Amino acid sequence: MTRIDGHTYLIGLMAYPIRHSMSPTMHNTAFEALNLNFVYLAFDVPAEKLKDGVAAIRTLDMRGSNVSMPNKQVIIPYLDKLDISAELNQAVNTVVNDNGVLTGYTTDGVGFVTDLKKKGHEVAGKKMVLIGAGGAGTPIATQSALDGLSEIRIFNRHDGRFDHAQETVDIINEKTNCQASLTDLADQAALKEALAWADIFCDATGVGMKPLEDQSLVEDPTWFKKDLVVYDTVYAPRETKLMTIAKNAGVDHVYNGLGMMIEQGAAAFKLWTGQDMPIDLVQAAIE
Ligand code: NAD
Repeated sequence: MTRIDGHTYLIGLMAYPIRHSMSPTMHNTAFEALNLNFVYLAFDVPAEKLKDGVAAIRTLDMRGSNVSMPNKQVIIPYLDKLDISAELNQAVNTVVNDNGVLTGYTTDGVGFVTDLKKKGHEVAGKKMVLIGAGGAGTPIATQSALDGLSEIRIFNRHDGRFDHAQETVDIINEKTNCQASLTDLADQAALKEALAWADIFCDATGVGMKPLEDQSLVEDPTWFKKDLVVYDTVYAPRETKLMTIAKNAGVDHVYNGLGMMIEQGAAAFKLWTGQDMPIDLVQAAIE
């Protein structure tokens, strides 16, 4: 960290709790490797202190910040502009300060699409099944739609997120050329049929992560066809039960969410610095 001097720009991460985050390691590794005069620090900022946190971005002339829960929606009124990625999700994970003008972005969806692309799978022209429409699922759906996905069938259980999932479906149908629909996850026959129809299947629910590490939303291996691309947004553990079932069913392309997590950071890094994050170095630093 010897490069810190009077010209160093600060980038923050404002969320609560947040001290467990891998983002400071990712970004500082990349700044150091590229000899960029930035430093990235995590700050415990609960929602009631966020207004002051955003004021600090302006006062300290910070280059920007990431935000995570519980601040992804709360921050919107404090910003000057929203990029379309944040507008379609009504959520922000990245703030960029351009000479005092604060713009909010959501880079999770770009992270997902970029990771899939680097693994050899374009979303354009494809059909997707997505379970879950929360903080991860919504940007996955909207960004894939913006990037040319032809059709998406979202499944959500009938919980507090169901109405939000319907809003996402409506926004996609209204603002993009992708055709979207929502089905109750309880309709298992519809899920089975959709998996046979889809090119890409993404589970964005967190089932498979502690304390649900012994659960999978698809238990029957015959529901997976071999050429389906199977993506779980969970990255701890690196292989969820869903992934194991898919692999045992002979599916060739089965991925966890680590690549998405790194690529959402890389997209934010590019917005702040204009540079490409050295992905391999960053991955090695957090593995
Ligand atoms: P969230 O709480 O905002 O949304 C969860 C979604 O899953 C909702 O739609 C909810 O209805 C559904 N859901 C939750 N539990 C369920 C269950 N038992 N059965 C069926 N549906 C269920 O959470 P989130 O922020 O969207 O995170 C979801 C997962 O994605 C987490 O595991 C998180 O770690 C992961 N995530 C990964 C990345 C990445 O970059 N890879 C980014 C964000 C989140």
